[in-house]
Amino acid sequence: MAHKRFSQIDRREFLAFAGAAGAVFTAAANPPGALFAAAEALTATLPPLPYTQSALVPVISENTLSFHYGKHHQAYLNNTVKMIAGTDLEKAPLEEIVRKTAVRPEQSGLYNNAAQVYNHTFYWNCMKPGGGGEPHGRIAEKIRESFGGYRKFVEAFSNAAATQFGSGWAWLVSDRGKLAVVKTSNAETPLTTSAKPLLTIDVWEHAYYLDYQNRRADYIKAFVEKLINWDFAEKNLA
Ligand code: FE
Repeated sequence: MAHKRFSQIDRREFLAFAGAAGAVFTAAANPPGALFAAAEALTATLPPLPYTQSALVPVISENTLSFHYGKHHQAYLNNTVKMIAGTDLEKAPLEEIVRKTAVRPEQSGLYNNAAQVYNHTFYWNCMKPGGGGEPHGRIAEKIRESFGGYRKFVEAFSNAAATQFGSGWAWLVSDRGKLAVVKTSNAETPLTTSAKPLLTIDVWEHAYYLDYQNRRADYIKAFVEKLINWDFAEKNLA
């Protein structure tokens, strides 16, 4: 299974990270944790979207957002809440559920659902109406340092998103002070690695098919040029 392979590669790093952070590693996991009321037990209530369901039109239709958030994201959360009931993770915050189940192959079903809850919550915040284009400030500087310029970043990010075979995600991450682009399949998330997610694009077909059908490249281009919330990405650098 793809998620095991990814998790195993980074298991040593993950353990080192978890060990170093000790008992407070859940509370220290931010800012994505902050999106999900960090350190609080999960309920079946999704965090609200940071904008209205029609705010991303024409890049993403209200219909897509309504299904994606209201049906897909909600279903991942419902499944997660059902699966943690009566287990040692029943009262655990989301990030702890994702990190712990990533190294428990017998809980891959829970891992997949919980990681998708996390990934989607993160993804909504990576977009804003009137976003996209070239960033300024610290994040722009880091992009220049790490990729050799904004254009090179766009090429790497768009290429990762376009070539992720089947369902998955492309990410901009910060790892040991350097930015990098990675792609993950299905529910895989950099949260279980040493890399810190800054930005993501969902390339599951449910993210774009109603609006773009098979034209994934057009969705990626519109996301980059018109939606990226660079303020959010920069905040995640901290
Ligand atoms: Fe999705």
